[in-house]
Amino acid sequence: MKSAGHRQEQTSNTGGDEAGITAFPSSLIEFQQRLPDEASCVGYLFKGRWPEGFVCPGCCTRRAWELHTKPWTWECAGCHRQTSVTAGTIMHHSKLPLTIWFWAAYLMATHSNGISALQLQRQLALGSYKTAWLLCAKLRRSMVAPGRSALAGLVEVDETEIACCSKHDPVTGGRGRSHQGKMLIVGAVEVQDAGAGPGRIRLAEVSDYSANSLHPFVTQNLAPGATAKTDGWSAYPGAPGVDHDPHVIGKMAAHIVLPWVHRIFSNLKIWGLGVYHGLRRQHLQSYLDEFVFRFNRRRTRHAAFRSLLGIAAGHALLTYKMWISL
Ligand SMILES: [Zn+2]
Repeated sequence: MKSAGHRQEQTSNTGGDEAGITAFPSSLIEFQQRLPDEASCVGYLFKGRWPEGFVCPGCCTRRAWELHTKPWTWECAGCHRQTSVTAGTIMHHSKLPLTIWFWAAYLMATHSNGISALQLQRQLALGSYKTAWLLCAKLRRSMVAPGRSALAGLVEVDETEIACCSKHDPVTGGRGRSHQGKMLIVGAVEVQDAGAGPGRIRLAEVSDYSANSLHPFVTQNLAPGATAKTDGWSAYPGAPGVDHDPHVIGKMAAHIVLPWVHRIFSNLKIWGLGVYHGLRRQHLQSYLDEFVFRFNRRRTRHAAFRSLLGIAAGHALLTYKMWISL
């Protein structure tokens, strides 16, 4: 879409992605064919932002020019307001090519177990590990979906412990009820189809298993009227707005009464070891957010890709201050 002039009139669509944003590439090859360069990535963003053609966010004028002095920016013909196609997304003000962002988000969204900064550096031939690490960190921060709806219906709720894994944390801690050297996690899983499968999940780090720690998790993550199915631990009952269905059991039988939340905990631990060689206390909640993000979007990779880039519908626009420069 380059022209010899200083800027180019743009009244309807931009070049590139005529197929729109609904048909998500189903393979690496298709991804590479459809989004091979900066222009096609801009086209993808343009189509997502203005499916019916440019509309000025200031005055709703539909005529605009693409500026050639600023990358990927359109100037309204009516009020001369300038709008970047990356405004409000994770890529805004980034020095990295859009193709790198798109590839990184694609790899992160489609690898079922996730991808480490080192893997990303190698796969994308990035010059420095620091760049790869920042890229990973930024994408991961998109994994907490703002305004996500609470879990509903029958919800298994339970806690688990993971041994700390860092040079600052002792690997083995206290015995018995002492949580020294352990990271404490509370989890919730929607039970679907009368127990046939898990729905959405939530995970959070807690400082202890008291009512003060567990009630906020239950009230934030379970919709009013949901039923919390627990192992009968005394701290759960009384969370406002939530019914409680306690099953008082011995520790050994918890996986039978609460099979889905226990399967999630088990998968979380295996994932943490496999991808991160153990989870560290310092970043625990972001690891948990990533695991929840992957699990809840395991059947909608396209939505995951768009959420990661901050271009999903309904995604809160990010302010520049939220991001360190990359
Ligand atoms: Zn305008």
